[in-house]
Amino acid sequence: MSTVRLTIASVVVVAIHFTQFCMSSAEGQTNTYPVMIQLDLDDETIQATPVLATNSEVIMLGRDGQMWDFDPRDASNFSQLPKPFQAMTQGEMRGALLSEFGNQFDVTGTGNYLVVHPKGTKDQWAGQFEKLYRSFQQYFAARGIYPERPQFPLVAIVFPDFKSYQKYAAQEGMRVSRGIVGYYSGKTNRVALYDVTFGTHNEALWEENINTVIHEATHQTAFNTGIHNRFAGGPKWLIEGLATMFEAPGVWDSRNYNHFRDRVNKTRMLEFLEYARTQRAPNSLAAFVTNDKAYLRRPSTAYGEGWALVFYLIETRPREFAAYVRKVADQPNGATYSDAERLKDFQDAFGQDLNQLEAHFLRYIDELPSKMK
Ligand SMILES: [Zn+2]
Repeated sequence: MSTVRLTIASVVVVAIHFTQFCMSSAEGQTNTYPVMIQLDLDDETIQATPVLATNSEVIMLGRDGQMWDFDPRDASNFSQLPKPFQAMTQGEMRGALLSEFGNQFDVTGTGNYLVVHPKGTKDQWAGQFEKLYRSFQQYFAARGIYPERPQFPLVAIVFPDFKSYQKYAAQEGMRVSRGIVGYYSGKTNRVALYDVTFGTHNEALWEENINTVIHEATHQTAFNTGIHNRFAGGPKWLIEGLATMFEAPGVWDSRNYNHFRDRVNKTRMLEFLEYARTQRAPNSLAAFVTNDKAYLRRPSTAYGEGWALVFYLIETRPREFAAYVRKVADQPNGATYSDAERLKDFQDAFGQDLNQLEAHFLRYIDELPSKMK
């Protein structure tokens, strides 16, 4: 009995020591290079730098941008390495990806992206990711939001078929169906997807690939340029609303599609109009912005509503929207964003009277079809 108690006590002491060690290291980041720490976690030995360290939670980043979020009591054998932490260069990351994925794959690099794709396929992927990245920068800069440069090369993995994609996702603890063509993982910082054309480049199907690239690369870019905070909770309506907004050609390719109507995501608009006409409860905006329940309970309509709200706010209240996005992203690392704080931040940005805002919002979306003619 006493042995067990002693073991637990020493683990806690080690955990607290480790946390203090991380904290002092994390504080030193402003004027020195971030420290590199090695430790054992579950079955692996990791080398990473701390971005948050408390007695109950530690968040660390690897040189490839991978994130570990754990209880410090689960870590052991920690030590500070003599080398400072530095993010991988594109060249280092390319080498690491080639050895991870083997000779069935090629890695194509562009300015910010490294895309792993099946060998021998004509590379249409990397350019598409890079194009989205540039549109993203331009779109926000034009609206007074200036994305930061990503700390890590952005990585996307394109699998030749559903099976290999599903297998990879399972290793990350993700369960995917054929309908989930791709996803962005906050843990690995990568986008993974499969080619729905199976290399045939059927044009109609290829469009689905492009839509997946746009949606998931928007998530990835937003989390890597400070538009969202990767280490603190953000409202789902804002995260998914931005990604669905970029799906419209007038947003991701405004040079070739420069009319107002091109910025409207027609599928999401029709979904929302139908929902607003048949099921939506009056005065439900406050609940929608303060918690994520809609995305669990009614995902088929929540995505449309998230799109509609982001589109309305960014088109009609761009300055308030920019201030709101900054406020949400500025939460401290590791913070949980309570319903009350979410409501307060939303009202501080867009006004106290949410029922009036809701009336304007609904009218605006209702009038969209006539503005698109
Ligand atoms: Zn999404």
